[in-house]
Amino acid sequence: MPEHLINEIRETLASARSQFEYLSDLGVETQVAALPDAKSERQSFETNADLEGALGAIRTELGDCQRCGLAASRTKLVYGGGNPNARLLFVGEAPDHEEDLAGEPFVGEAGQLLDRILLAMGMQREEVYLCSVLKCRPPTKRDPLPEEVATCEAFLIRQITAIRPQVIVGLGRFAVQNLLKTKEPINRLRGEWQRYQGIPLMPTYHPAYLLSNPEGKRDVWEDMKEVLRLLNAEVDGS
Ligand code: URA
Repeated sequence: MPEHLINEIRETLASARSQFEYLSDLGVETQVAALPDAKSERQSFETNADLEGALGAIRTELGDCQRCGLAASRTKLVYGGGNPNARLLFVGEAPDHEEDLAGEPFVGEAGQLLDRILLAMGMQREEVYLCSVLKCRPPTKRDPLPEEVATCEAFLIRQITAIRPQVIVGLGRFAVQNLLKTKEPINRLRGEWQRYQGIPLMPTYHPAYLLSNPEGKRDVWEDMKEVLRLLNAEVDGS
């Protein structure tokens, strides 16, 4: 067998093995089967093109946004991305360094961990939609300021209204507290269903938090199983 094929097989096995180890780490015994696609049932737009057009129009209106002080320090605005017709929407805090450079959501280390969580759920990032409370990176590790949130929020609300996901996952303290307008700590909020504009919202830890607190992975997996249960129940009509 040619060497390049042997190397390819080795790489595939190594990647399968790392995924398997990650799943065991989460306490997952078998990978969850991919969800059936029920998007046609809930779509309020006439066509996908209408929905994409609505999201595109919000992006166009944001333009080269200069509405708050973050415009001065950002490299690229990170609008969000994924499947506009997603049943599941993840909302994070704000772009980090890698996202700021790329203009894409969740492309850094935390994003890679999110991909693995999705894989454990039997999903891929192309099926879901990813965005954050803020579309521009705060220059330091500080929390986003209330005025920055207030300015960006109108666009987030419009994005969520356009996508109309069946379930929202709020990633981390900042996103969850801002979406729910609460000061409750994330360790009390996580794992309990909430509602955002009538849409079920599951608060959980941010993948960036899991990078330095891997013991939280098990809780996140419990929360994601709840999310899958709800999505599956919607498909079954139960
Ligand atoms: N963290 C977030 O909350 N959002 C991103 O887009 C990237 C990291």
